[in-house]
Amino acid sequence: MRREVLEAQKSRLAAIAPFTPAPRPERREEWKLKLDANENHFIDGGILRRILAEALEEVDPRFYPVEEFQLLREDISRWLGVGSDLIALGYGADQLVELLVQAFGVGYGVASISPTSPSYETRCRILGLKYSSTPLRGDGFELDVERLSEEARRSGLVFICSPNNPTANQFRRDDILAIVENAAWVVVVDEAYADFGEYSMVGDVERYDNLIVLRTFSKFFGLAGLRVGYLIAPRDVIDAFVRVVPPFNVPSFSLAAARRALRHLDHALKAVEELKAERSRLIQRLNTISGVRAFPSQANFIFLTAHLDSSIARRALSEYGVMARIIEGMPGLGTCFKITVGRREANDSVVEAFSSLMGGGA
Ligand code: PMP
Repeated sequence: MRREVLEAQKSRLAAIAPFTPAPRPERREEWKLKLDANENHFIDGGILRRILAEALEEVDPRFYPVEEFQLLREDISRWLGVGSDLIALGYGADQLVELLVQAFGVGYGVASISPTSPSYETRCRILGLKYSSTPLRGDGFELDVERLSEEARRSGLVFICSPNNPTANQFRRDDILAIVENAAWVVVVDEAYADFGEYSMVGDVERYDNLIVLRTFSKFFGLAGLRVGYLIAPRDVIDAFVRVVPPFNVPSFSLAAARRALRHLDHALKAVEELKAERSRLIQRLNTISGVRAFPSQANFIFLTAHLDSSIARRALSEYGVMARIIEGMPGLGTCFKITVGRREANDSVVEAFSSLMGGGA
């Protein structure tokens, strides 16, 4: 019996792809070329260190956080203009994805798009739930509204990542709303990157009884290491959802730091403007290299394709010290890359690496 159970569990878990971070240089100084994880390179490190020092002063780790949850929800509520009782917090948006699948995916399955953030599918596999993915259309990576609506009518939960990871484009609001209107139950718009995009759907939550917007402090505020995510949902949905949220699921220190980050909105917004300027410059320069195509981006990373063998590309990028993600499984597009927008110097290294890889000048 023991052996049987062991074998069955081994094969079930072997089917789940583990998360593997890209290998990182030992020396932190080289991290300016760490462009693999869509982190925020534009937020000032000094401001963040001050925020952490202040949070350290405030927090008493002997106690579980209780009031701290309410305080952060109230601060987010004032910032976004939504009721604090419609906000739930998670240990990163990633934990909220996991909990959303538990709350709404069980029994009816989950629908999403492809390519997209792998965590939705992984969470479904872990629980043995049905997961369908509708391919994006054409090289503008648009939603296939008809097909996704059909899947959404048969699912308990739909994830639409917008701006989408890895294709970096933000979908048309009307397309997303059409799916919200057709879905059997809830639609989650994952807005981890919306602060770098054209618009947010937070304001739409009050008009629909089944729209959830998922966001994070990891990208816009540059607090990826503290693990604070949040979602905004209609009242009935949040009442159901909070039942699956474990108590004290965000550390008091992270809650306190996130509250302080909100006092530096001006800085975060300025960092976004700088990032956008660098993003256009990077895309424009990459597109002068023959054989390379950098797509428009509304995120803090870019998606690009190159006529290159992926193993050669992997080796060459690492020779330049550029850490980037190679995206597999996009037939017909050549080798695909996802690269975080870094500071000017880092982006120059990316351009240099690709131009030497393609054997031409930029
Ligand atoms: N959603 C998307 C689309 C992401 O790319 C990521 C992280 N890369 C997350 C959610 C998770 O963010 P967090 O750091 O808040 O867990």
